[in-house]
Amino acid sequence: MTKVYYEDAVTTNELEGKTIAILGYGSQGHAHAQNLRDNGNQVIIGVRKGKSADAASKDGFDVYPVFEATKKADIVMVLAPDEVQGKLYQEEIEPNLVDGNALVFAHGFNIHFDVIVPPKNVDVFLVAPKGPGHLVRRTFVEGFAVPALFAVYQDATGKAREVALSYAKGIGATRVGVLETTFKEETETDLFGEQAVLCGGTTHLVQAGFETLVEAGYQPEIAYFEVLHELKLIVDLMYEGGMEKMRYSISNTAEYGDYVSGPRIVTSETKAHMKEVLADIQSGKFAKDFVADNANGFKEFHRMREEQKGHQIEKVGAELRAMMPFVKKDA
Ligand code: NAD
Ligand code: MG
Ligand code: MG
Ligand code: MG
Ligand code: MG
Ligand code: MG
Repeated sequence: MTKVYYEDAVTTNELEGKTIAILGYGSQGHAHAQNLRDNGNQVIIGVRKGKSADAASKDGFDVYPVFEATKKADIVMVLAPDEVQGKLYQEEIEPNLVDGNALVFAHGFNIHFDVIVPPKNVDVFLVAPKGPGHLVRRTFVEGFAVPALFAVYQDATGKAREVALSYAKGIGATRVGVLETTFKEETETDLFGEQAVLCGGTTHLVQAGFETLVEAGYQPEIAYFEVLHELKLIVDLMYEGGMEKMRYSISNTAEYGDYVSGPRIVTSETKAHMKEVLADIQSGKFAKDFVADNANGFKEFHRMREEQKGHQIEKVGAELRAMMPFVKKDA
């Protein structure tokens, strides 16, 4: 089994005496900043004026424009949205990096696809929590953490690996386990997972199931419960104990139907399409399209977002969730 790093694998704090600039104070940014600070590290925030800057100030951080935070820092963690990072890097980050700084990411996208080409005299690594930022913070406060991956892309100081592990410990991740990967592996598997299974695969599976029931004349409210609401309960069981625990917990009727009908839905053809999606990620086609659409004002992105927004399952879901205040979580 692959090596997992825990608390005692990281004996020195390579962040000590250094200033860490967290660029962006969104989902990941607020969590990294607060966890690192709670662990005794020196953290400043680099973000443009607005809601995020106000939130960071309110949380007690010194907030600077990105160029100034980068200048003041030894370790620069880039937590602006992926599509913003290229321009931000060129205009405000690169001119303010000096020998021996560390340039850090939570996702390998821009480095792996050469949107950002770092100078040779800085360390470049990633520390990527495997969960949303709000959980990175909440679990830390509760005494746990979200597991994380780390990878070194470039080691200018001879200490990049140690600094990366110290960073992972600083955000709490070594409490539950940190795994080593590469920028290529992290980027390509992350994109594939969210496209084929977690986000793209799941939303379209749920919608197709909903439409099938509604088109057959069943009530949309009933369809919503059967294909969307209950999904959480099933996923929670898989999260706790894999498919076996889930199948143990469901009725024999449901388990028999799982074996008989699952392979009729996700077929060898579906898997062939998954391989095509992976090939587009590996070749850089997906990244190229995403970056080009961003340069075009995200026209295609916004069109698809609008198209999906209007789906009947969203309207029915909003009404049903209003009756179930217990399902409501923080935004
Ligand atoms: P986010 O959208 O939640 O926050 C982005 C922050 O950047 C905000 O504070 C925003 O105000 C700021 N920002 C936007 N444009 C800016 C600009 N031009 N100049 C300065 N600041 C600007 O982003 P996020 O979801 O936290 O993602 C950050 C990084 O973390 C990405 O690389 C992403 O892939 C990675 N990541 C995210 C998650 C997640 O759960 N959200 C998980 C793992 C990795
Ligand atoms: Mg600097
Ligand atoms: Mg991911
Ligand atoms: Mg991702
Ligand atoms: Mg049922
Ligand atoms: Mg059973």
